[in-house]
Parts: sequence; structure tokens; C-alpha cells
Amino acid sequence: MDRIKSKIQKGKILVGDGGWGTLLIKSGMKSGECPEMWNIEHPDVVSSIAAAYKEAGADLISTNSFGGNRIKLKAYGLENEAKRLNRQSAYLTRKAIGEQHHVLASIGPSGKFIIMGDISVDELYESFREQAIALEEGGADACIIETMVDLEETRCAVLAVKENTKLEMIVSLTFMRSNDGGRFNTIMGTTPEMFINEMKQMNVPVFGVNCTLSVEDMSVLLERMYLFEKEVPFLVYPNAGQPQLTDNGILYPESPEVFAKYVPDFIRNGAKIIGGCCGTFPEHIRAIRNEIDRIQ
Ligand SMILES: [Zn+2]
Repeated sequence: MDRIKSKIQKGKILVGDGGWGTLLIKSGMKSGECPEMWNIEHPDVVSSIAAAYKEAGADLISTNSFGGNRIKLKAYGLENEAKRLNRQSAYLTRKAIGEQHHVLASIGPSGKFIIMGDISVDELYESFREQAIALEEGGADACIIETMVDLEETRCAVLAVKENTKLEMIVSLTFMRSNDGGRFNTIMGTTPEMFINEMKQMNVPVFGVNCTLSVEDMSVLLERMYLFEKEVPFLVYPNAGQPQLTDNGILYPESPEVFAKYVPDFIRNGAKIIGGCCGTFPEHIRAIRNEIDRIQ
């Protein structure tokens, strides 16, 4: 199978998948449950989510392992299950989508902060190393180090993946927009420019932004990133707007049509992988796929 980077170099725009949490909740996952445990207890549900995204037209489909590092699993007393849960997550996605699509190993943040003294760089590295190896063993061919807010933690994860696996690497940070709309930064104060410089220095081939921001805010952020850096292929996975609490639980308002509408904007500003984050469903991915097929 051609690697992601070479597909992009040949001029392809790739489609990512959408949210997993919302679909797990829809399938009965209760708050307080460990999502990664569903890889063992409800493998059919996890597989069906991967299959639904493939069906919707995604080229890259994630694993159910966003919180699968042992530091985060410790909150559930499951730290010693890290290997098994990650391996199984990659196995389930691979089984559901076959060999022609990319299994994108999801590696999320630890939830602890180096700057607060909650965790050491060595502990972080070790936990990402264990997770990445297990995800590769399970059948992943690429990874997305995603929804990161701290550059130092991101660095640990990048090195852990690079030094211990052959997974093709994508990195994605999550930014907030200031109240006056003028600035973007992560909760740790990292700016998009700092992020871009750091990733280029570490030779990360594809990187971008996911979560927190709506489609419109994301398009402003991406435009700014593209003004600063025109060579790197970007990934963009917006949320479906801001979550609203309704009688039926949390609802994200942005429709598949809104996502489709912004696809040309994203492409103009350097996006080579377009998908969705919180509140997006297979219908959003289908809309992105159709729009890209129409343009290309
Ligand atoms: Zn998200």
C-alpha cells in the first residue's frame, strides 16, 4: 500500500474519519466508562464504527485508543491492560476496513502536565512507547498524535513513535480562538507558528489541527497557518460547532452541509487530509468525500 505521504505528493486529498466518542455513547457507553475497554467488551460495536467510516468514504480510519496510554488508563485501574487494549483497538479497525485503507493509531494526551510536576518526560515517553508498539502490533500502519496542547508532551510522543515503530506519523494540536477572534493558541500558550516551527524541526511529515474549533474558526486558523507555511501538508478535523446541552444530551449543531461548504477553503489553505472531530458522524465524512470527489 502506498504510504500517506506519497499519496499526498501525487496530488490526492485524503478523507479522515469523524468522532468516535459520540458513536460509542450512542451505542450505550455510559459516562465514567473507559472507552478503550469497549475494545474487549464490545468489539462488534468498535468494529462497526470503523466500518461505518470506511463506508462513508474515509481513507484513514482511527483506532479506539485515544485515551489508551497507561497514565490515563490508571484512572480506571487499567494501566496494566494498556498493551492488550491498544493492540486490540488496532486489530478491530484493521479487521473492519481491510488492507486497502489506512489504520490511523490514535494517540491522545496523558491528561497530566509536565510543567505542574504531575509527570516526568521519561514517564510520558515510556507510556507512549508502550502504546505505539502495541498499536503497530495490532495492525496500524500510521498514527495520529492528536488533540495535544503541550509541545513538550507532543515531542515525547513523536520521539516514542519514531524511535520504536515504523508507523507513518501525523501530529495534531488543538487550539482555542481568543474572545476578540484575533489570536489562536493552545491552553498551554503555544501559538500555531511555534507549533509549525517545532514540527518542521522534528521532521514530522504531515501535521495539523483538530477538535475544539468549529468549521468556520478552523478555516480562519488554517488560513493563518498557510500564510506562515506553504509546503507542509496539513490535516484538519474540526468539531461540529460548539456543544449545546439539550434534553437529548449534548448536541453539536454543524451539519454535514456546512462541512462540505468549507472543503474548498481548507484545500486552498494547504489541507491534504480532511475529517471531523467531536460531534461529527459518518454523514459528515460522506459530505466531505462527495465534495472532494466533485472537486478532484
Ligand atoms: Zn474532538
